[in-house]
Amino acid sequence: MDETLLKQALEFGRPYAEKGKVAHYIPELSKADWHDLGISVHTIDGRQLRYGLHDRRFTIQSISKIINLAIALEHFGFDAVFHKAKMEPSGAAFNSMSRISDSEDIPFNPLVNSGAIAIVDLLLPMGLEAMLSSARNLCADNEITLNEDVFQSEWTNSARNHSLAYLLKSKGVITQDVEEVLKLYTQLCSLNVNADNLASLGLLLANGGVHPVTGRRFLEEEVVRTVVTIMLTCGMYDGSGEFAVRVGLPSKSGVGGGILSVVPGALGIGVYGPSLDEKGNSIAGQRILEYISRTEKLHIMDRFIRHPDSAAQA
Ligand code: GLN
Repeated sequence: MDETLLKQALEFGRPYAEKGKVAHYIPELSKADWHDLGISVHTIDGRQLRYGLHDRRFTIQSISKIINLAIALEHFGFDAVFHKAKMEPSGAAFNSMSRISDSEDIPFNPLVNSGAIAIVDLLLPMGLEAMLSSARNLCADNEITLNEDVFQSEWTNSARNHSLAYLLKSKGVITQDVEEVLKLYTQLCSLNVNADNLASLGLLLANGGVHPVTGRRFLEEEVVRTVVTIMLTCGMYDGSGEFAVRVGLPSKSGVGGGILSVVPGALGIGVYGPSLDEKGNSIAGQRILEYISRTEKLHIMDRFIRHPDSAAQA
């Protein structure tokens, strides 16, 4: 893998950007330039490859949900977390109400909005500062800050998430003050990151929670296994199944245009492209990842394919 491949992948993905749209439901996000594209890859042997706008800041949005999930698992444990949300793909849009309104049940998983808001109910006592510092640690960047403009823009246009949160309160899933929970959830979606940050976090997940160069452990192995499994099954919302077939890497998208992907034992990948498909996933970003996965044979199910030079056929 080298930067030439990243360039080829980016150029392969570029034409798809004009088929999508930047997010509009959070007005501040509509200011993004749909042409923007960047990629960053961190390797287990300590190399950092990048191409395009790899250091352009954008808001993390739903990719924060994997940080929240990991921290909640670390601090409160498996049972407390999965008491708040199940671990099933919802097959519905990220902000769907339908799948929780007609049952007494908890949200489908921690990566749709309803489930993520329920997880923040656990995290509320930790507060913004501690969560920001966790995000900075996991992404290896002390310059990650709250984007106040995006936060205010979403906060004043969050009727949908308010509805979800009050519904969860009525069901007893949210136990704390709804406004405070939702405010923290929205703030954590509004952290300014770049593709390099996503690659850093991806590399930690790729290496079982340990930084491969420093040897420092950031996350427990069990936490990493749980988080990447839920990324594979639920990380791209109602596009998770197709993305798993086409790309085959645990990944998480955000409506800010980021996608974080994990290649087990090998790479963390961060992609930025704010033009989104109708499901809210970066349209060019998905193609870029598909190109890289196919070219480098990174699909995690590739082990089911017998290559002509494999030992069994020799
Ligand atoms: N902050 C956004 C929301 O709650 C995150 C959604 C996303 O990135 N898909 O709607």
